[in-house]
Amino acid sequence: MSTSQVMYLIRYGEVALKGKNRRFFLGKLTSNIAGQLGHVRAEITLKSGRVYLKADPQDSPAVEAVLSRTMGVVGFSRAVETDKDMERIEEACGRLAEGLKASGRRFKIEARRTDKSFPLNSYGIACRLGDCLRARFPDLSVSLYDPDWILYVEIRDRAYLYGPGKRGPGGLPVGGSGKGLLLLSGGIDSPAAGYLMAKRGLRVDSVYFHTPPFTSDQALSKAQKLAEVIGAYQPVSYFTAVDFSPVQLRIKERAPEDTTTLMARACMVRIADLLAAGKRAACLITGESLGQVASQTVQSIAFTETGARLPVFRPLIGWDKEEIIALAKSIGTYEISILPYPDCCTLFAPARPITRPKMDEMEEVYGKLAIGELLENAARSAVRKPASGHR
Ligand code: ATP
Ligand code: MG
Repeated sequence: MSTSQVMYLIRYGEVALKGKNRRFFLGKLTSNIAGQLGHVRAEITLKSGRVYLKADPQDSPAVEAVLSRTMGVVGFSRAVETDKDMERIEEACGRLAEGLKASGRRFKIEARRTDKSFPLNSYGIACRLGDCLRARFPDLSVSLYDPDWILYVEIRDRAYLYGPGKRGPGGLPVGGSGKGLLLLSGGIDSPAAGYLMAKRGLRVDSVYFHTPPFTSDQALSKAQKLAEVIGAYQPVSYFTAVDFSPVQLRIKERAPEDTTTLMARACMVRIADLLAAGKRAACLITGESLGQVASQTVQSIAFTETGARLPVFRPLIGWDKEEIIALAKSIGTYEISILPYPDCCTLFAPARPITRPKMDEMEEVYGKLAIGELLENAARSAVRKPASGHR
């Protein structure tokens, strides 16, 4: 490594558990990091089960932003690599401590030696570096049980030193679990649901149903922005907008008022299923949470999913709204979701929606809509755009 570069040690969690598939998942992890870095140049290497990244110091804010959004990354630390020579290790330790001492005076050295031919054992390394740091920075003191920061030293093929890290999202690398299509409304829940599934390794594309001219361009661009925020956690993703007006108007014309939301939701699921099949997505995702509104009772969900041939994942099904809001805030979707542009669900919502629909009655209403062709047209005229990965 040229001394002018910065190096990061990247920790991954569940990927490590993947047994024989570990190489596949690690390959995805490193190619996703590279993909999300886009034009930022970085050298990513896999060495004895660890991922290292080297980049220009001026790019470190961009690198850190990407690592903190790459699914599969549990954490990452700035690291220094040196020859396995105690003097050089001391010198590197001093350089790292320079940055770390801003976070407190009490420190601890944690040393590990996989190369047993190294002349000092772990305890010996820790003592020597502890003494060295105290000599160099007299205001620092060692605290084994309550340190403000820990400096790690590992003697492997070379010596690696690193401090406390920053957190990544964890989970599995995007794409490792295939691809899914998120029904993305402008609300708080569905973006959070998409994030959770991306965190389980799904590549999440989004579909948004709008009803021009009843809904505004702002509502559409709000949904696109939400797709882009979810896209920022993935190397590539797409956003599809579907003109739902002809379907919504047919429902308004032919369905009893209290069933209109359920009919609309079933139609959305059907169109999403058609779109997913065309793009080889293997599942649908919604932001539904049990009992949150009339269309999310057990009976309502049982009916609305009848249009799906693919499995429908609802990662928020057991979550409280407060928990969902906290997640939405932490991933950066909340502030967009609360912008006040009504979507078709709000505009066409019946005053008294049905909460315990009977399956046979709903199927009868649905049949009378004679809506198959409208759904196919809607899917055919969908507009698909990149939501990330196309810099
Ligand atoms: P959200 O906060 O995600 O809008 P919600 O609590 O408002 O959810 P509903 O409006 O009942 O719930 O919608 C339930 C689910 O149906 C949403 O989470 C989303 O997955 C899907 N959905 C609803 N409206 C749309 C839409 N206009 N386009 C795409 N998907 C939608
Ligand atoms: Mg909604």
